Amino acid sequence: MEEIMEKANYCLNCKVKPCSVKGCPLHNEIPDFIKEVKEGNFGKAYEILCKTTVLQGVCGRICPHMKQCQGSCVRGIKGEPVAIGELEAFAFDKAMEEGNSLLKVWKEEIEKNKEVLGNKKVAIIGGGPAGLTSAAFLAKEGVNVTIYEKYDFLGGLLMYGIPEFRLDKKIVEKTVQNILDLEINVEYGKELGKNLNLNELEEEYDAIFLSFGANCSSKMGVEGENLKGVYGGNELLEYNMHPNYEGKTVVVAGGGNVAMDCARTIKRLGAKEVKVVYRRAREQMPAEDKEVEDAINEGIEFLFQNNIVKILGNENVEKLELIKTKLVQKEGDTRLSPVNVENSNYIIDADYVIMALGSSPATFVKDLGLSLNKWGNIEVNSNYETSNPKIYAGGDLAGVRGTVAWAAYSGREAAKKIVEKLKEA
Ligand code: SF4
Repeated sequence: MEEIMEKANYCLNCKVKPCSVKGCPLHNEIPDFIKEVKEGNFGKAYEILCKTTVLQGVCGRICPHMKQCQGSCVRGIKGEPVAIGELEAFAFDKAMEEGNSLLKVWKEEIEKNKEVLGNKKVAIIGGGPAGLTSAAFLAKEGVNVTIYEKYDFLGGLLMYGIPEFRLDKKIVEKTVQNILDLEINVEYGKELGKNLNLNELEEEYDAIFLSFGANCSSKMGVEGENLKGVYGGNELLEYNMHPNYEGKTVVVAGGGNVAMDCARTIKRLGAKEVKVVYRRAREQMPAEDKEVEDAINEGIEFLFQNNIVKILGNENVEKLELIKTKLVQKEGDTRLSPVNVENSNYIIDADYVIMALGSSPATFVKDLGLSLNKWGNIEVNSNYETSNPKIYAGGDLAGVRGTVAWAAYSGREAAKKIVEKLKEA
């Protein structure tokens, strides 16, 4: 407790609050909640956070804080930034410990709002960060919400995409239960393209929010990608279908959090060597620096400014041909682009290759009758409305920037837009 109070007291409660305005995708009222922590008003601190987020326990732990709130903290200019993530997680944990909840914080508001929107029904397809957030903020507005979820649990990638060593699943379970206590209905084992029909849902509901993610790993398009031993990083984490890595050399391609989570999981599962191949330099990695540091400390090797040219082998992966890259500023590009260095090719041994270079939605998405963008994501306008005005989409499925906080932001903002529309109807 003393330690957490010290961390809260370190905050300057800046008037301009860059941590909130510039850093936090959800614009959590950071100085205000920290001020309440400082004064020992933990319930009030949680209440302030509930205005903008329902994922405090999760975001406090796994957001890339140095790329978001803490990266904008004034204290960070000359020294260490305020430990905003830890303080947010603390406020959530304390609330759960003391029997506080979203329902308690929002009860009066919900009762009042039910008088206006209590006869409206919204379906959410997919119970990950975007869907859960949207469900909670719709329920707060008095709307009847039903989540349709393909698994028999909620949380989406918070449950299966982020390894236990980064996020304790008990925190996810508490977060989900806290949201479900807002009297949200759930239909488990329901999946679009299988046993759920969008047209039928359209008949039954006043609006639909699609948030079932985009978890199909992108391919590199290099020779040998179809050999046995090449896996998609997203699928590997989602289905937990790992081969036996004992004594093997594994190469992970990519520089984001999925690449880091795969590399660290595989190392823990007994691989002899894990190498991460990334086309750019360490500074350009989308993964949080702390994750990279942890990976290095766990013995993972990084081959920065390297690219895979070819995967070699007869039936199984045996070797990789790599090429070195140099970084150049191309006109119109916001970041440095990697260009292959001629004649710098070389060969390394590998038993498995994990593609963690990004992801796209499942193929059935193109049969939903909704417009897609050039990357295959569902196209939405600034109101998160798809080409069908009754259907909204958010999170990875709509190509929202790939962090939990950004997905949650899309869910919250879509809920706002849905409510505006329902009030007009
Ligand atoms: Fe506190 Fe840092 Fe935000 Fe200033 S920028 S209010 S010091 S957390």
